[in-house]
Amino acid sequence: MTDEIRNVIIIGSGPAGLTAGLYLSRANLKPLLVAGSKWGGQLMLTTEVENYPGFIDGIQGPDLMQNIRRQAERFGCEIIDDDATAVDFSKAPFKVTVSGKDYFAKAVVIATGAETKWLGLANERKLIGRGISSCAPCDAFFFKDKQVIVVGGGDSAMEEALFLTKFASEVTIVHRRGEFRASKIMVDKVKKNPKIKFILESEVVDVMGEQKVEGVKIKSVKDQKVTDVAIDGIFVAIGHLPVTGIFKGQLELDEKGYIVRKVKGDHSTSSEHLDAYSMTTSVDGVFVAGDVHDFHFKQAVTAAGYGCQAALEVERWLEMQD
Ligand code: NAP
Repeated sequence: MTDEIRNVIIIGSGPAGLTAGLYLSRANLKPLLVAGSKWGGQLMLTTEVENYPGFIDGIQGPDLMQNIRRQAERFGCEIIDDDATAVDFSKAPFKVTVSGKDYFAKAVVIATGAETKWLGLANERKLIGRGISSCAPCDAFFFKDKQVIVVGGGDSAMEEALFLTKFASEVTIVHRRGEFRASKIMVDKVKKNPKIKFILESEVVDVMGEQKVEGVKIKSVKDQKVTDVAIDGIFVAIGHLPVTGIFKGQLELDEKGYIVRKVKGDHSTSSEHLDAYSMTTSVDGVFVAGDVHDFHFKQAVTAAGYGCQAALEVERWLEMQD
């Protein structure tokens, strides 16, 4: 336990958390950033990032995160590579527990992001890493000349399928509806690829295999017919879940577990409204940034933008307290 009361603790080390760390350390507020035992967020599981501004030829996800981390550290952002295991926002200063040690701060920025949603099938957990994956850039290499399926109908599923065609002999997208949620440009690319096939209006209801994936049972939602399909790998791309377990009962969450933003003040007019805040939560002094509240855009660049916005609001909020 330390008695020191810090200005601000940031929880999370994806683009939102580290950008908040960069801004708050440049503002000389000496933030403490709790990065998690696996730091960097979802971009650590990506290869090429082509849509983050400033990198004409793209950049590898882990390199991008390393750059943002080093940039924040350059201005003195203190980083702990461990998990926050509990918080107490019931009174100020707020308490954040990391590996049994308590840290206190006047303000907190939550940027814990989101993680992979799995199908929830009985055999699924034990076969993750043994034929089941959620990251084609990480694992496609292991499926050279093999047959795989991708589950999902969003942009992630299309992206995973396209990546997998570099290695697998055949990639089948299994989607529960007849239409895709993904953008037209991605669907067009997928449809043009001769290695990609489709099983639509169908759900994966079981995974076969003990030591490794050997096949799946796929059920048609139209006639309920179940078919066994022999495959070597399953890539699950059905979206993400916010990482908010430790905030239950501390902050208002929506029905899916995302942190609810409580916009405060009047943003409509001008800079006269110095008490207007966007990145605020149900607890005054606790701010939020990134995929942990944003279920709509979910982009690295929007997360970084939210991190910047939360940091500027924390700065202003702390000034108002003083
Ligand atoms: P998403 O857009 O939420 O799509 C999830 C897909 O999984 C949907 O097609 C959904 O089916 C399906 N699904 C959800 N739960 C399921 C379940 N239990 N069983 C079977 N299928 C299930 O998620 P996402 O594809 O991860 O994309 C998230 C965001 O990131 C989007 O805004 C996307 O545009 C963006 N993104 C962009 C790019 C890019 O621009 N390169 C790449 C990846 C992601 P329904 O359609 O029936 O709901």
